[in-house]
Amino acid sequence: MKFTGFTTDAILLRRTAYGDHDLIVTFLAPDRGKFTSIAKSARKSVKRFSGLLEPFTGLQVVCTAGRGKLFILKEAALRRSLGSIRSNVLKTAYAGYWVELVDGWLEEGQPQTALFHLLGWVLDALEKEASNGSRLSVLFQMRLMALSGFSPNLCRCACCRTPVDGMPGMTIGFDLAKGGVVCARCGADTLDRRMVLSKGTAKQLHWLKTMPFARAECLRFTARSLAESLQFLETFVPYHLGKQPRSLAFLKQIRPDASCKTRETNGQGETPTCPTI
Ligand SMILES: [Zn+2]
Repeated sequence: MKFTGFTTDAILLRRTAYGDHDLIVTFLAPDRGKFTSIAKSARKSVKRFSGLLEPFTGLQVVCTAGRGKLFILKEAALRRSLGSIRSNVLKTAYAGYWVELVDGWLEEGQPQTALFHLLGWVLDALEKEASNGSRLSVLFQMRLMALSGFSPNLCRCACCRTPVDGMPGMTIGFDLAKGGVVCARCGADTLDRRMVLSKGTAKQLHWLKTMPFARAECLRFTARSLAESLQFLETFVPYHLGKQPRSLAFLKQIRPDASCKTRETNGQGETPTCPTI
């Protein structure tokens, strides 16, 4: 049967100028996963896509066959308006970091229903969030690691299986290469690649990856735990995905120290809803 095209919901991950008139646009869709299309005349004519082809925008798109894996983007309609994110440089930086992580990790053409819903949920929550998105970034990175199969082991020593509660002191070592906690005895020769986490933060992060996702939004961080979680995940996630996102450098540059001291609650007292994944 001749391929005539498809219509799908999609989140825009990346766009690149192509020639004088066109854009190459990469999307994430639930049933198709990551795919790339060419938007002809998108740069030449403002009317062609009405300014919709912006990073992390939620769209419904219509594509037809092009060359090889490159589809032709024929139509796009807005599904998710993100005005609050776009008007806030720090929220924009967080959203840019999340889509770059997804884009960098995924291969094209594999269905990614759970990841599509996770990214869509976290962008919706960021749009509603009164504060800057640090708490959501911890949630997103932990869930992304769970979906990618690289969840950090935060319960037991990766070598001898000693439980964290059985290790002395209030802090524990985390070995990036092993992807898990190491006790003092097993980690004696890995000081150069170890991070240090408080036991409380490790437990909270572990809770995030195993609890029902709908309850994660109720999580509250102390300022110290939030700062520690961000530092840990923004090291661990790029390490295991194999790429250092350019957007992370920008995020760290503009993020004020005070961002980690903000009480991360929704200012309207509302609780965003989220899918079970
Ligand atoms: Zn050990």
